[in-house]
Amino acid sequence: MLDCAIIGGGPAGLTAGLYTTRGGLENVTMFEKGMPGGQITSSSEIENYPGVTGEITGMDLMMPWPEQCQKFGLKHEMIEVTRVSKSGDLFTIHKGDGSTQDAHSVIIGTGSSPRRAGFAGEDEFFGKGVSTCATCDGFFYKGKEVAVVGGGDTALEEALYLAKICSKVYLIHRREEFRSAPNTVERIKKTENIELVLNSVPDEVYGDNMGVTGIRVKNNAGELRDIEVPGVFTFVGNDVNNQTLIQEDGSFLCDMNDQGQVLVNLSMKTSVEGLYATGDMRVEAPKQVVSAAGDGAVAALQVISYVDELLN
Ligand code: FAD
Ligand code: NAP
Repeated sequence: MLDCAIIGGGPAGLTAGLYTTRGGLENVTMFEKGMPGGQITSSSEIENYPGVTGEITGMDLMMPWPEQCQKFGLKHEMIEVTRVSKSGDLFTIHKGDGSTQDAHSVIIGTGSSPRRAGFAGEDEFFGKGVSTCATCDGFFYKGKEVAVVGGGDTALEEALYLAKICSKVYLIHRREEFRSAPNTVERIKKTENIELVLNSVPDEVYGDNMGVTGIRVKNNAGELRDIEVPGVFTFVGNDVNNQTLIQEDGSFLCDMNDQGQVLVNLSMKTSVEGLYATGDMRVEAPKQVVSAAGDGAVAALQVISYVDELLN
C-alpha cells in the first residue's frame, strides 16, 4: 500500500516526490512512462528557471532532480499508468502491464502536449527552430524575423509577445477570421511589425544542420510563398494529458473544465478527496517549469496532512 502515488515525472511530479518523501511519507512511488524530466527535456536552452545563470539545456536542468528525490526515498517505476480509480478511501493505480497498486493518495502531473499542426518538417525541426513556447524560445530570435502559426488567443497573444522581441512576425492563419478575442485582433492589426498571412497553411518547414531557414506556405488559391525565417512558432491548441482520469464508464474521476483541464483550488485539491492535480494539466496553468514545480510542492504538503489524518 502506497502512502502516495505520483503519476508523471516532470517538474511537478518530481517536486511532489521530493516534498512528500523529505516531509516524512515513507512509501511513495512515482510512475513515469519515460525518462523522468518531462517535456522541458526537449528544450535546447532554458533561461528562466530562477538561479540558473549559465547556458543549460532542459535536459541539464532536470538531470539531478530524480537523484535528489531518490536520496529521500522516492521510488520510481518506469511504466505508463492507464487509469486511476477510487473505491472508498482507496485509490487504485492501473498500470500498462495489467497490474495494479493501491494508494492512500494520488498526485497527478501528467502534463499537456502541444498539438502538432501536421506540416512537413514540423517533427524534424522541433526544438531546432520549430517551437511551441514563445516565453521559452522567443529570446533566441531577438532582432530576427519569425513566423507564428495559428489563429486562436494563444497564437495572437504570443505573436504580440514575439513582436516586442523580434524584428518582424509573420502570422500565418488558415482562415480570414481569427478565433481570438476581438480586442486582441485589434492589437495585432495595430502592430506594425506583424504581417498577416491569411487563408494560408504551412506547406513545409525546411532548413539545414543548423536548424530552420524558412517556411513555405500555401494559400487557398494553391499559390506557394517562401518566407525566410530561422524560427517558426506553432500554437494550434493544446491537449491535456488527462486520459488516466477516464473511468471505465467514460466519465472523469474528478471535475474538469470543457478544455479537459483538471479543476483545482489553490491547494491543488481536486473535487475528489486525496487526489491532487499539478502542473500543465490543471486549470489556469502558467505552463512553466517553475510553476509546475511549485504546484508539486503545494500538493505534497497537502498530501502529508491528508495521509496523516486518514491513518491516525
Ligand atoms: P510535463 O513536463 O509534461 O511532465 C509530465 C510527465 O508525465 C512526462 O514526463 C510524461 O512522460 C509523464 N506522463 C504522461 N502521461 C503519463 C502516464 N499515463 N503514465 C506515466 N507517466 C505519464 N517552461 C519554462 O519554464 N521555461 C522554458 O524555457 C520552457 N521551454 C519549453 C520548451 C519546450 C520545447 C517545451 C515543449 C516546453 C517548455 N516549457 C518551458 C514548458 C515546461 O516544459 C512545462 O510547463 C513543464 O514541463 C510542465 O511540467 P509538468 O510536470 O506539469 O508536465
Ligand atoms: P484554439 O482556440 O483551439 O486555437 C487554435 C488555432 O489554431 C485556431 O485558430 C485554429 O484554426 C488553428 N489550427 C488548429 N489546427 C491547425 C492546423 N493543423 N494547421 C493550422 N492551424 C491550425 O487554441 P488556443 O489558442 O491555444 O486556445 C485554447 C483555449 O484557451 C481557447 O479557449 C482560448 O480562448 C483560451 N485562451 C485564452 C486566453 C485568454 O483569455 N487571454 C489566452 C490563451 C488561450 P481555426 O480557427 O481555423 O480553427
